[in-house]
Amino acid sequence: MVSQTIDLLKEELPIEQQSLLLSGDVITGLVLVDVVNGFCTVGAGNLAPRQPDKQIAGMVEESVKLSRVFCEKKWPVFAFLDSHHPDIPEHPYPPHCIVGTDEAKLVSALKWLENEPNATLRCKDCIDGFLGSMEKDGSNVFVDWVKNNQIKQILVLGICTDICVLDFVCSTLSARNRGFLSSLENVIVYSHGCATFDLPFQVARTNKDLIAHPQDLMHHIGLYMARGRGAKIVSEVSFG
Ligand SMILES: [Zn+2]
Repeated sequence: MVSQTIDLLKEELPIEQQSLLLSGDVITGLVLVDVVNGFCTVGAGNLAPRQPDKQIAGMVEESVKLSRVFCEKKWPVFAFLDSHHPDIPEHPYPPHCIVGTDEAKLVSALKWLENEPNATLRCKDCIDGFLGSMEKDGSNVFVDWVKNNQIKQILVLGICTDICVLDFVCSTLSARNRGFLSSLENVIVYSHGCATFDLPFQVARTNKDLIAHPQDLMHHIGLYMARGRGAKIVSEVSFG
C-alpha cells in the first residue's frame, strides 16, 4: 500500500532525466556532498545507516568511481565534509559528525582523496555547503574554486538528496543567477550518485519525536525540487 502510494506520487511528480557525456571540452567540476562515515557507514553514528543500505552504498560507489576518473583527468574535485564543534548542536538533528572523529571523515573508499592535489576538501558546520564555504572575511571557498578553475558546469553527488545536496544546489543556482559565479552555467545532479536516509512511516509513528522520511520518495522529491529550481538531473554519466 505504502509503496503503491509512493509510485503514484512519483508518477504525479515526474523528473525528466538526461544522460551526460563529459568530453573535457566543457570544464566540469565534481562536487561531493558529505560522503562521510557519519552519514554513509553502517553503525558509524546517530545519523549513519543502521543496516546496509542499497541506495547509500550505490551513491558511495558512484562517488568513488567518478572521483577516480576526475582525478586521473586532473579535473577539479570539491568535497564537503559535514563537521561540527561538540558544543554547537545542529537542530533538529542529534549530535553527528563531530570534528576530529571518524564520522566527520570521508568514507574509507574515498580516503585517498585527502591526499589528492586535485581535490579541495571543505569542512562545513551547516546543512548548506554554499553557506558553509563562507569565511569570516566574506570570501567563499567554493566560489573561489569555481572562479580559479573557470568551471562551466558542476556535477553534484552525495547525501542527502533532499537536504544537504538540495540546499547546496539551490544556493548555488541563486548565486549563479545573481552573477557571483560568472563562469558557471549549469548545475547538474546525478540521481544515482545521490542518496538519502530511510525512516519509514511505520517506524516514525511509533515515536512522537520522529518524522517519517521514506527514502525512495524523499530522494525523488529532492531531485524534483532541484530540477524545479533549475538544475539538470542526469541518470547516466559517461566519458568520451
Ligand atoms: Zn551536520
